[in-house]
Amino acid sequence: MTPNELGNASTNQSFNLWYHPLYTDGIHVEARFPRERYQILLNRLKDSEQFHMFAIREPRQISKDSLLLAHDSTYVDEFLEQKLSEKEMRRIGLTPWTPKMIDRTLCLTGGALEATIHAVEYGGITGNMAGGTHHAHRDFGSGYCIFNDLAISAMYAIEKLGIKRVAILDLDVHQGDGTATILSNEARTRTISVHCSTNFPFRKSISDFDLPVEPKAGDELFMEKVREAVEQCVDFQPELVLYQAGVDGLEQDHLGKLCVTREGMQERNQYVFEKMLQNRIPTVIFMGGGYSKPIEHSLDSFYDLFIDASIWNNRWS
Ligand SMILES: [Zn+2]
Repeated sequence: MTPNELGNASTNQSFNLWYHPLYTDGIHVEARFPRERYQILLNRLKDSEQFHMFAIREPRQISKDSLLLAHDSTYVDEFLEQKLSEKEMRRIGLTPWTPKMIDRTLCLTGGALEATIHAVEYGGITGNMAGGTHHAHRDFGSGYCIFNDLAISAMYAIEKLGIKRVAILDLDVHQGDGTATILSNEARTRTISVHCSTNFPFRKSISDFDLPVEPKAGDELFMEKVREAVEQCVDFQPELVLYQAGVDGLEQDHLGKLCVTREGMQERNQYVFEKMLQNRIPTVIFMGGGYSKPIEHSLDSFYDLFIDASIWNNRWS
């Protein structure tokens, strides 16, 4: 893997972040999803003084074999051959669809997997600047999610990289329902979800640890659950943590109801990074949701997330 022209040569201290122009361009311009967020965020990171610490990496498309670690082959084939029904596509959203959606999905999931492999090989923190597709189930997609990059990466780490235990720490405002069901019988993973009790999905799945938060909770109550979640995570003694770091718990978010401030979100991320460093657990960031109106509030928090990740990653060396 070689860094592309956007970043600097990778060193031990670089924060490796996977990104592809298709993250934005693979979504139809008329889709309601805030597709521009990836492009804008990359430009903001490039303008920051901290950018010399980043190595921006371009993902390759994931293989079908890797998708099958967490998904049903009929579903995978139907998606790849553009044979999903209208109803199945509507359940996923991101409509109207474009054929570019296939390449986007394969790149995005490939980025998650490469970030995972890098974290296992070199330690520290890595990330993918998209994904965290936790609403994708084994044989269907939903809520903007087609394939579950968290479940695929967890199973890949276990099956192909010899990792014994993987924790999935999901702090997005929505429950990681797809991840919970796909990994429900898998003792080598622990799924932990902090989410707003009244947000989508309305029918919740059962994670190994569910920590629902009441609407309008604000920073303090949210952090209480985050600390509990991190404790459950560390107690499992994982060799790898997959961190779904959605910022849709923000008070300005259009789809979330938790009323967390920008500072509260930053406190959350720093707490996670600090505990993972203390326990020397390699951590992969999956970007997750962020739907504020205007989108700038979500972008501010995503910016904080990746800047802080680069700072904490540097402390690993
Ligand atoms: Zn979300």
